[in-house]
Amino acid sequence: MLLRRRSKYILADLDSGETLIIHLGMSGRMQIDHTTPGQFHHSPPVAQKHDHVVFHMEDGTRIAFNDARRFGAMDLVQTSAVEQHWLIDKLGPEPLGNQFDESYLIDALKKKSSPIKSALLDQRVIAGLGNIYVCEVLFRTGISPKRKASNLNASRIESLVPAIRDVLNEAIESGGSSLRDHRQTNGELGYFQHQFAVYDREGEACQNECGSKIFRIVQSGRSSFYCPKCQR
Ligand SMILES: [Zn+2]
Repeated sequence: MLLRRRSKYILADLDSGETLIIHLGMSGRMQIDHTTPGQFHHSPPVAQKHDHVVFHMEDGTRIAFNDARRFGAMDLVQTSAVEQHWLIDKLGPEPLGNQFDESYLIDALKKKSSPIKSALLDQRVIAGLGNIYVCEVLFRTGISPKRKASNLNASRIESLVPAIRDVLNEAIESGGSSLRDHRQTNGELGYFQHQFAVYDREGEACQNECGSKIFRIVQSGRSSFYCPKCQR
């Protein structure tokens, strides 16, 4: 089995020529329990609450997809048809990949009449960029989440590219952003949330010491946190 990733989807290529497409959603996780068949062990793992899909491997390993909030998803398709799957085929380039650069983003945002916040959350523009990271990127670049994407000049759009890469790389290095009960692969909570400059900091003083507080507004159903003084 080969594990890949595209955007927020885990792609598990099976020996059968099929691929499992997995989305963990907000709180989903894969719980792996190793047991050796024929050997004495305490007790086989029992089904946990919210185990929605359980795989029993030939070597006795039990892999459970556990998701309390049910935002996850799973589908089994032919590996050759993954790129055409409806969850995958409209996705934009990976933000850490070579296809994503300044000229791509300038071109992609030219046609977007939505606010820049919503445009950057649009997975057809950039794949896999989440709400937290868009808030942080816009703060770092001094761009208001309310600004119309197509009205941003080229130099401001260009500033987004390194900011997106930096924020994602820093988050990966810190083990991701844990919200409530979400876990890293080793079961530990991620630590990036302690470094948020604006996300979830409504009412707190702006880190730039500009004298303003962080505001929260709702755009396209998602919270945007920003400094109205530093972000224009
Ligand atoms: Zn500020």
